Amino acid sequence: MARYTGAVCRLCRREGQKLFLKGERCYSAKCGVIKRAYAPGQHGRGRKKVSEYGLQLRAKQSTRRFYGILEGQFRKYYELAEKREGKTGEVLLALIESRLDNVVYRLGFANSRAQARQLVLHGHFLVNDKRVNIPSYLTKPSDGISLKEKSKANSILKAIVETNASRPTPKWLEINREGFQGKVVSLPQRDDIEFEVEETLIVELYSK
Ligand code: SF4
Repeated sequence: MARYTGAVCRLCRREGQKLFLKGERCYSAKCGVIKRAYAPGQHGRGRKKVSEYGLQLRAKQSTRRFYGILEGQFRKYYELAEKREGKTGEVLLALIESRLDNVVYRLGFANSRAQARQLVLHGHFLVNDKRVNIPSYLTKPSDGISLKEKSKANSILKAIVETNASRPTPKWLEINREGFQGKVVSLPQRDDIEFEVEETLIVELYSK
């Protein structure tokens, strides 16, 4: 399945919540969810009753869209989470949260997860001093994430880091903004996940 290339604000309106797909705009009054607080499409204002399956589907879709993950890959994370120790839903969220593109975003090196994905793909980041251009790369505790030496002089990247300086850093990450470096200090825990979702609904959906 191809990556979604339509208007991303429609995705937030479909899920009925902010998915923070557009950087600064998401924090402004121009946000689509604020301006048009109803689902997109002809029947957007009329849809009310949601079945149990509908709730499960929306939980999965909204999480997938929040992190910008395609269906096939999302299912693979679920299958991996099932094999690991712990509550499957929580392990699933921790796995997704550990993706390199998400870590780059959470460190404030990108305005959105989509931008983080682009920057990683373009080879701007190193993991433990080695270039990694795979957005889905799963980071682990003690991994060091840094901006490539040449990219540190890039004025656009410098501006992004400055813009996001006030964004709080989650406790499972450490940042050295001046050095354009970050570190994964521990595995993300459930309360580190900023997206509001009932992960048990995703588990129910996939275990059918
Ligand atoms: Fe979603 Fe951001 Fe668009 Fe608001 S501005 S609807 S949070 S993508």
